[in-house]
Amino acid sequence: MTALLDDVDFAGRTVLVRADFNVPLATVEGVTKIIDDGRIRAALPTFSYLVAAGARVVVLAHLGRPKGSVVPALSLTPVAARFGELLGQAVPLLPQVCGDDVADVVSKMSDGDVVMLENVRFDPRETSKDASERGDLAASWSRLADAYVGDGFGVVHREQASVTDVARLLPSAAGRLVATELAAFSQVLTDPARPYLVVLGGAKVSDKLAVLDHLINNVDRLLIGGGMAFTFLAAQGYDVGCSLLEESMLDLVRAISGRAAELGVDIVLPTDVVVARGLHDTVSATVVPVNAIPSDHMGLDIGPVTAAAFSAEIVSAQTVVWNGPMGVFEVPEFSAGTRAVAMAMARSAAFTVVGGGDSAAAIRSLGIDESAMSHISTGGGASLELLEGRDLPGLLALDELVEPTLSSTHPPLKES
Ligand code: ADP
Ligand code: MG
Repeated sequence: MTALLDDVDFAGRTVLVRADFNVPLATVEGVTKIIDDGRIRAALPTFSYLVAAGARVVVLAHLGRPKGSVVPALSLTPVAARFGELLGQAVPLLPQVCGDDVADVVSKMSDGDVVMLENVRFDPRETSKDASERGDLAASWSRLADAYVGDGFGVVHREQASVTDVARLLPSAAGRLVATELAAFSQVLTDPARPYLVVLGGAKVSDKLAVLDHLINNVDRLLIGGGMAFTFLAAQGYDVGCSLLEESMLDLVRAISGRAAELGVDIVLPTDVVVARGLHDTVSATVVPVNAIPSDHMGLDIGPVTAAAFSAEIVSAQTVVWNGPMGVFEVPEFSAGTRAVAMAMARSAAFTVVGGGDSAAAIRSLGIDESAMSHISTGGGASLELLEGRDLPGLLALDELVEPTLSSTHPPLKES
């Protein structure tokens, strides 16, 4: 069983916490600003708890893809500043990822202090494919601390030094955010209230095939929109014009449809779609039934009849998992289907879970009330892997204590 924060006595202990603070940034007139601090906010319960418990907290986080070298534009400086504001105490950012200077600062921390190390991906060992290189970096971190808390849900599907290797070297617990994410996904994956509906969309079938393959065993109905719907429609013989069509997926889509029929799972496809000559040719946008897609048009959203039908299903279900926008929601002319589904999710009394980076972004950018959903995942890739039924390395590592290396200055960490 994975330990949770309440299982451990953190008072006076130095605790490494891996968080996902990979927020979107924009530089305006030379000043770098955080566009969306949702991920920082989502991590606050863990840090507030640890501070109140009297831990000495060392934050491990990454920003962007510096690919193992120091990229000043990807410094965690703005993140540490915002995090400190939200937490209500100063969070000094150490300019290094590891090393003697870090050890020196950490050794002088007081109970309740929080410091952040610089972007862990500035060090090439963080994401190295070589386990001994990763282990090397992880060991340098483990020597700083008595315990590890894994709370970076957005990275728990990665085999990386700050996610898995260091977790194996210290007594570990799952943070509040990871625990919340797991509780939501375990409810829909193991014990969903029925009817259980899954709404899938997004660009490609190939991205979602493993999710389809896993969920089909458990769901009652599957609603399909987005670009991937056109491969399903083509598999049924419809002419989809210039829509996104993955020819190589047609056989697999037919096989999945066949299995769904055997299992008694209804796959519901759009009956009308918004088409246009191109993504930027919004003047040509028009609604057509799926059997009348002009050969020089592409489908860019579900149509109003489909949106209403999907919404009605969402509102009357007991459990709804939604992954993938219904159309190219980034363009206002093609966002109505995604908006309708998001609003139905918000309105539904069902247990509603949103997975997928773009789906969560769509909810935010369309101004839908996020608090009306039961759970919006903070991890795109990680949430998809959970929906695929996979074990995530960052979660497994929390249970694998390979080599306890408790610091000599503290007595062994006790579970309370
Ligand atoms: P998520 O990140 O939520 O898992 P995806 O990454 O699978 O979602 O898909 C999101 C992308 O799918 C969006 O950028 C959106 O523009 C695109 N998309 C949705 N519908 C279509 C369509 N009909 N044709 C092309 N792209 C689409
Ligand atoms: Mg995506």
